[in-house]
Amino acid sequence: MKNFDIKKVIEWLGFILKCPVCGHKYNLEKTRIVDSEQDEAYNEAWVLIHSDCTKCKSSVMFNVEIKGPEVFSVGMVTDLTGVDSQKFNQLGPIKANDILGIHEALKEFQGDFVSSFTKK
Ligand SMILES: [Zn+2]
Repeated sequence: MKNFDIKKVIEWLGFILKCPVCGHKYNLEKTRIVDSEQDEAYNEAWVLIHSDCTKCKSSVMFNVEIKGPEVFSVGMVTDLTGVDSQKFNQLGPIKANDILGIHEALKEFQGDFVSSFTKK
């Protein structure tokens, strides 16, 4: 298996994977690849997938690793929508200064989220 057909892997996963919240089978139309990498020399691939459950509306992201004939998958429930997962995938990782900025902002925080997010 030199070239992985990621779409076929997704179809296969859509067939076997169920929503961890309600047990409903995933709808392939609500499943998308967020990121992927392939290493043909080592016959390996890695795929990050986001799926929305059409029944309970929860979202799940799962990491799939393919190493030769073996497939490993780890999933987690997330509050990121499909659009969020695309958006945040394009942003870099959180930096130390981002955390320090939140820390400083929370020091001044008076407990009113509405006014905090609508202030200009
Ligand atoms: Zn569900």
